[in-house]
Amino acid sequence: MRKARINRTKTVCTYCGVGCSFEVWTKDREILKIQTKTEAPVNGISTCVKGKFGWDFVNSEERLTKPLIRKGEEFVEATWEEALSLIAEKLSGIKEEHGPDAVGYIASSKCSNEENFLFQKFARGIMGTNNVDNCSRYCQSPATTGLMRTVGLGGDSGTMEDIMASELVMVIGANPAESHPVLATRIKRAHKLHGQKLVVVDLRENELAERADLFLHPKPGTDIILLNSLAKYFFEQGWEDASFLAERVNGVEEFKASLEKYTLEYAVEKTGLSMEQLLRLAEMIKEAKSVCMLWAMGVTQHMGASDTSTAISNLLLVTGNYGRTGTGAYPLRGHNNVQGACDFGTLPPWMPGYEPVNDEAVRAKYKAAWGVDLPEDPGYDNHHMVEAINKGKMKALYLFGEDMAIVDANSNYVHSTFEKLDFFVVQDIFFSKTAQFADVVLPAAPSLEKDGTFTNTERRIQRFYKVFEPLGDSKPDWLIFQELANRLGADWNYQHPSEIMDEAAKLANIFAGVSYERLEEWESLVWPVNPDGTDTPLLYTDKFGFPDGKARLVPVDWTVPFNPGADFDLHLNNGRILEHFHEGNMTHKIEGLVHKVPEVWLEISPELAAERNLEDGALVGLTSPYGHVEVRVIVTDRVKGHELYLPMNTAEDSEAVNRLTSSYHDIITHTPAYKEMGVKMEVL
Ligand code: SF4
Repeated sequence: MRKARINRTKTVCTYCGVGCSFEVWTKDREILKIQTKTEAPVNGISTCVKGKFGWDFVNSEERLTKPLIRKGEEFVEATWEEALSLIAEKLSGIKEEHGPDAVGYIASSKCSNEENFLFQKFARGIMGTNNVDNCSRYCQSPATTGLMRTVGLGGDSGTMEDIMASELVMVIGANPAESHPVLATRIKRAHKLHGQKLVVVDLRENELAERADLFLHPKPGTDIILLNSLAKYFFEQGWEDASFLAERVNGVEEFKASLEKYTLEYAVEKTGLSMEQLLRLAEMIKEAKSVCMLWAMGVTQHMGASDTSTAISNLLLVTGNYGRTGTGAYPLRGHNNVQGACDFGTLPPWMPGYEPVNDEAVRAKYKAAWGVDLPEDPGYDNHHMVEAINKGKMKALYLFGEDMAIVDANSNYVHSTFEKLDFFVVQDIFFSKTAQFADVVLPAAPSLEKDGTFTNTERRIQRFYKVFEPLGDSKPDWLIFQELANRLGADWNYQHPSEIMDEAAKLANIFAGVSYERLEEWESLVWPVNPDGTDTPLLYTDKFGFPDGKARLVPVDWTVPFNPGADFDLHLNNGRILEHFHEGNMTHKIEGLVHKVPEVWLEISPELAAERNLEDGALVGLTSPYGHVEVRVIVTDRVKGHELYLPMNTAEDSEAVNRLTSSYHDIITHTPAYKEMGVKMEVL
């Protein structure tokens, strides 16, 4: 009898942008344990609960193992031949009748760089449209915009080593202790053991806020006023880094003039913070020799999100905190590969490596490589796609690895939009909420069943290796795209994801020196990577990402947050929790994590509990202009006054926070303003 042996395979975590890597110990298909190694570049010490215990979903009986085709109200199992032939016939028919832009392509920030590269190649090179986007539209697009405007590149300025080395870390609108747990542990260590100063700006007194040297709780949606007023105060006091500004930054005088109304008095009035708090923060920034600013969805999910992200970068420029160890801007990427999905071209205006689609030379380069003319105009983003479907301009969607029916804001509206599609392909590992609206559902393989690379929040590219064969008839996403492309007339013959990476490296300048050989096992590369394989952990040491090498101060103003009216008297905030991945896809299939956190709850303040006579466990209904949910409350002083917090994970779609959120969005990137919602609450 064959004895099963224990295998140890290196992988990269799929649960957040920190990008911890570790070994998976397996025997046949059983996962025995997760063990970190000292060689791991981000974190060779420990994992969080998801990294350690969050893997049994790969063997879940709920995994999709066969293609499914809708027949009326039912789905029936099909062969790959039947499913792919149907998709090829429908997509080419819609393209022929309505044009290439009648189809939209939504990519996955949970899937590999190579899969995202191939998906945008399919959309652009085979189907002839730039209508390709990914879930950064729901989270970090405004941060990328803020950085591209001011310093020229959208990625984090340095690595976690820089965050650790900083004298002052300022966390704005982020909850790393639950969303980026290993990073939070490292910040806690730097703070407790190495004297790093910590400032937290948030609505909710989260775990890092409890430890912070200064915790500020401004009124919702007023961060930009705080940031602009600090910039103005620095100029008034003569505290700006004058030589840095003179040598390395454009637009200083225009920016100074734009700050006229942002006095500290105005900031006190609008943010609700005290003058003492503002002055203390200004002194702390001035005294620190190096400052890092970290932010996430508390900043980026607002109508003025791109401008607030710009204001963060402006303040770093004014204070000279770029281009040195321990300085810079760190938008914390949420999904494991949201950075890579964007880097490898699943964004409407950008080819891989952020080379613009409307640049003739860029298109000529791709024509030489792929033999086709690429579309010139930037395509629709996710938000535009929903609108185009409603207007009848878009007829079909192809979406993989994204549960848009739960994730997108105003989900009741999104569901009704999906019902208008002529044809909808969903490719996933589970029969998601979104799959319920599909015409064809394709079974994909998760990361443990394929090879590939992910890019973490630091811009660090790491390899993961196949642990198991794909379950049932499921297949790696890249292979599905190849088989479909070849049915549509292509002649793709990739034998392994490494060949896809080789192609990306030849085409996109920032990946010039990336190869699987240079990424063997625990090796990693932080882009931009030069042809000789040298990489760039710290950006902007000599020049910023604009042709003249200088950064730009960009004037930005406050956008008054969306408010649905006086009837909706409570402010609803939302976010992640430690134990579940975002909305709970994958982690809700894991017994131990579900046992620990089986359902969602609503945090209410002691003041509100007293006012409404509520205790822990009471059932309440929340109503916004867009929908209604019912949920039990927890009374906690983490939230204050009339502010509520509803985590986004949910076992039941009927409890999901996006039943309540609106279609209002960041003015520039169209990222939904998830954090701007008023609700009313009734006791049930
Ligand atoms: Fe995974 Fe993030 Fe936890 Fe690391 S911190 S183990 S990457 S979820």
